[in-house]
Amino acid sequence: MTTINNQLAAMNKTHLWHPFTQMKDYNESDPLIIERGEGIMLIDVNGRAYYDGFSSVWLNVHGHNVPELNQAITEQLGRVAHSTLLGIANVPAIELAEKLIHIAPQGLNKVFYSDSGATGVEIAIKMAFQYWHNRGMKEKTAFITMNQAYHGDTIGAVSVGSIPLYQEVFRPMLFPSHVIPYPYAYRHEGGAAAAKEAAISALRHLLETRAHEIAALILEPIVQGASGIIVMPPGCLREMAALCRKHDVLLIADEVATGFGRTGAMFACDHEDVTPDVMVIGKGLTGGYLPVAATLTTDEVYNAFYASHEEQKTFFHGHSFTGNPLGCAVALANLKLFEERNIVEGVKAKAAFTRHKLAMLQERPHVGDIRQQGLMIGIELVRDKETREPYNWTDRIGYHVCQRARELGMLTRPLGDVVVFMPPLVSSEEELEAMIDILTKSIIDITEGGPAA
Ligand code: PMP
Repeated sequence: MTTINNQLAAMNKTHLWHPFTQMKDYNESDPLIIERGEGIMLIDVNGRAYYDGFSSVWLNVHGHNVPELNQAITEQLGRVAHSTLLGIANVPAIELAEKLIHIAPQGLNKVFYSDSGATGVEIAIKMAFQYWHNRGMKEKTAFITMNQAYHGDTIGAVSVGSIPLYQEVFRPMLFPSHVIPYPYAYRHEGGAAAAKEAAISALRHLLETRAHEIAALILEPIVQGASGIIVMPPGCLREMAALCRKHDVLLIADEVATGFGRTGAMFACDHEDVTPDVMVIGKGLTGGYLPVAATLTTDEVYNAFYASHEEQKTFFHGHSFTGNPLGCAVALANLKLFEERNIVEGVKAKAAFTRHKLAMLQERPHVGDIRQQGLMIGIELVRDKETREPYNWTDRIGYHVCQRARELGMLTRPLGDVVVFMPPLVSSEEELEAMIDILTKSIIDITEGGPAA
């Protein structure tokens, strides 16, 4: 067994190039190799079990190795694994589209499938761009994004993102986007109200002066994820949506991270009764099982493409695996479990429990800000709590806390100095408590000079 594991470890280092990973550091570390999952635990090749404290990068809903989800895939496998959606339909893709329209904000009536959050975003921006083109308003080509936004790693998605670290090298390949401030209350003088006003007034100004050349505003509704789990002040999303509508600019809601119950509503837009013109979903769509994403839109957008083929209004976009039947079948089973197990209501109760348990952490000397919306939680660590002075990035404080958590039996990933806690939505109170204990101990050990510091 050990020999096989050693071989696997060696092959992992020799042949695999891991995403978002400096491989030199990785190859000098002690890599974790997962063999199986059970409930919210992931078990490595040595048999050690870890809590999946970040839902395998924010997507797991019902835990791992879920009989109902496994069965949906097996049954579909017995029919067909894949054909194509290029002019040919398949049963699960149709049924899933109908279900998605039913649960999505009212007015989103069309579903365009893809296979990852980034491809869903890519489709959204191309769709918005061509929408205006098809309507004869060819000067509406630019996009507005929010500061520190993350929408995925393909070139279009990086162009409408605004995290410099991910953009710098590729800058010459990117198209420029307008960037407005994101309301980051903790780091805004004047707090939430002032931060919100800064974002809204920047958007208003841009729309009043340049709406004629802007296709869409893209944003992560209610919670900006990769920038550090930053929650918008109430009302912000609704006001931004209203401004876009007033100025005839499309709103693209990127719900890849926030969708499917994560924030305590089925979609984050539901918190403020907002129907975007385009909505991107991924991650939790299949319960975190298979790579399926979708871009939903309104009849109005769809109709701008609906014409005889001579008019050249066709949307020329698609992927080999678009509408994959296995993925759609497991997504359907996922949605069935959402209903049967009342997952969204459960998230609200679990969020309240978690908030209460995390309150103690707020007293610690290096915990600057705890941000939470549903089961999407970020804990920002600071060198100086009074002045909110951040740690040096070379301290890699978030990284060390997450390494300590791993030693103690829980997996998560940091976002700079922000420790992410995003448990699977089905986590029980006992499991949540156990994970919070590990988080607390890891933060204390690392920031207050405990055993591992
Ligand atoms: N948009 C948002 C808001 C995300 O958080 C992510 C991934 N974390 C993406 C898009 C990209 O999704 P994927 O990794 O599936 O391409």
